[in-house]
Amino acid sequence: MKKALIFVLLFISVGALSVFGFFKKDADDSQIGLISPHLKSIDADQVNWKEKDKDYWKKVLTPMQYEVTRNEGTERAFTGQYWDYKKEGVYTCSNCGQKLFSSDTKYKSGTGWPSFFKPLSQEAIGERKDSSFGMTRTEVHCSRCGAHLGHVFPDGPQPTGLRYCLNSVSLNFQPRSQE
Ligand SMILES: [Zn+2]
Repeated sequence: MKKALIFVLLFISVGALSVFGFFKKDADDSQIGLISPHLKSIDADQVNWKEKDKDYWKKVLTPMQYEVTRNEGTERAFTGQYWDYKKEGVYTCSNCGQKLFSSDTKYKSGTGWPSFFKPLSQEAIGERKDSSFGMTRTEVHCSRCGAHLGHVFPDGPQPTGLRYCLNSVSLNFQPRSQE
């Protein structure tokens, strides 16, 4: 009888822990550190990314990646893979693999989007004025394939005073050991 009671109590505890997510693996974890599937087993430096059309991008990107990088969408704050990600390495373009930002310039902005104060190189980034939604902002994109990354604002930390506010789905992450 006692044994049965212990078993029931154990069963209830395990159930409760599952409900509170104790055993649940963070769903986003499986994607962190992985590169977009279409970039595997190709030499991304040899591809002419500028000539890829919307049909190509629709085929190789996830719907969310396509919406953000090709239609200038924005993922919801605090939902992306990298807004609170702290590992050391390089953030690359999720569309073409170009190296864009280093974890050394990533900082906690409190916005819920991955934020950096400087790109790896100015050549990696393209900028243009964006007047959508009644605001004047500076849009930033990958210079190699044109993927929309996010926006840059003049309220970042020193030494640049800039805040590159990016979408996680625009990025892949390469750990320092694999650079
Ligand atoms: Zn790119």
